[in-house]
Amino acid sequence: MDKIVALTKRRGFVYPSSSIYGGFGGFWDFGPLGVELKNQIKKLWWDTFVRNRSDMYGLDSSIILNPKVWEASGHTGPGFADPLRECKKCHHRFREEDLKKDSCPDCGGDLMSPRSFNILVKTFIGSVEDTKATAYLRGETAQGIFINFKNIFDAFHPKLPFGIAQIGKAFRNEITPGNFFFRSREFEQMEIEYFVDPTLATSEFEKWVKQVFDWFILLGLKKENLRFFKHPQEKLAHYSKATTDIEYKFPFGWSEFQGTANRGDFDLMQHSKYSGKELMYQFQDGKKIFPYVIEPSFGVERLMLALLVDAYYEDTSNKRVVLKLSPKVSPYQVAVFPLLANKPELVDKAQVVFNNLRKKYRVIFDGRGNIGKRYFAQDEIGTPYCVTVDFDTLEDNSVTVRDRDTTKQDRVSITKLDEYLNNKLF
Ligand code: ATP
Repeated sequence: MDKIVALTKRRGFVYPSSSIYGGFGGFWDFGPLGVELKNQIKKLWWDTFVRNRSDMYGLDSSIILNPKVWEASGHTGPGFADPLRECKKCHHRFREEDLKKDSCPDCGGDLMSPRSFNILVKTFIGSVEDTKATAYLRGETAQGIFINFKNIFDAFHPKLPFGIAQIGKAFRNEITPGNFFFRSREFEQMEIEYFVDPTLATSEFEKWVKQVFDWFILLGLKKENLRFFKHPQEKLAHYSKATTDIEYKFPFGWSEFQGTANRGDFDLMQHSKYSGKELMYQFQDGKKIFPYVIEPSFGVERLMLALLVDAYYEDTSNKRVVLKLSPKVSPYQVAVFPLLANKPELVDKAQVVFNNLRKKYRVIFDGRGNIGKRYFAQDEIGTPYCVTVDFDTLEDNSVTVRDRDTTKQDRVSITKLDEYLNNKLF
């Protein structure tokens, strides 16, 4: 883990937030490469689960919602701010009165002292100081979806099953942020609420768990580093009828980075009750039901961390570090170099190649240092192909293409370069 922390800071993936002021616990800034990687993750997710399906509707709801939303969802209100003790190891929380011993009933870990616990981040809305109202930054994107159920149903009249998807920031006052950015206080979620006929909820739930797993394999995660964790019935969250997490084998142990829950009709019922608006699905014959909801929930940063850990490779024979990221997610797909930076004819030609490739691929231009160093620098950030313009290029209009994983080099005509890269990358 230390090596990944060092590499990602040195190469501009992630920095502790506000680092010039000593940082701020649980907050992170994502640098030029980190933001590319995150953007790729989000784009692939959106393409797979929204754009390429005809049963999914996108949404971008606000971060601050009417505080009643959180009362209805069970995140605030009576009973929620009870003093709780959190396990330092597994982060499960317990009411003091439910504890028989001074250690965690689940894993035996040490417990923190009791605290009045509310995970939502509070803020105040309104400009006149004494009439400011308390509001909360959303602790999950899910609630923004439920409260828009009727808007989307009325506008699109979708047939069951259908889903609403959203990507956005969530905030949690985590007691113990840590494990690099695994547990942060500000993070991004990618969530789907998939509305189904209650009688089909179990089979739809199982379908989603499988689809999600398959997507992780498609992104290049190694199967042996993934496993399912089915929550035992007695440990389910208050809204859940079934939950299955996908865990990744992080250097600090197997940990959840994605979860799918069968939330039943809890949310639509609660919001109907609290808002007085009927959030029901209406069939064409007029019959109404509360559909059940299957919720696949993803954390962008946790997936990013899993991808980085999975890709990290020390190639001892070539004395190099390689991030074997899938070209689907790597910040860059291609790097273009002039062999020598002080030869304008090479730089100009390399610039032409670069400008052509960037119309279609994620490309970086590098003219610093010697060629060997540039290869190693690209290996370390996961760029799958490096294209070099040399003196022969000026004669034969061909370039050298070097493969990150094998270090093998091919000579490719510039006129065939797009076809060559296209075959390798997609
Ligand atoms: P944990 O048990 O680790 O606190 P959770 O069960 O509370 O997680 P969910 O409420 O199911 O998490 O949130 C859905 C997803 O959001 C998680 O699978 C994870 O990827 C992400 N996530 C949740 N909390 C955090 C956090 N503090 N920092 C980063 N990502 C998070």
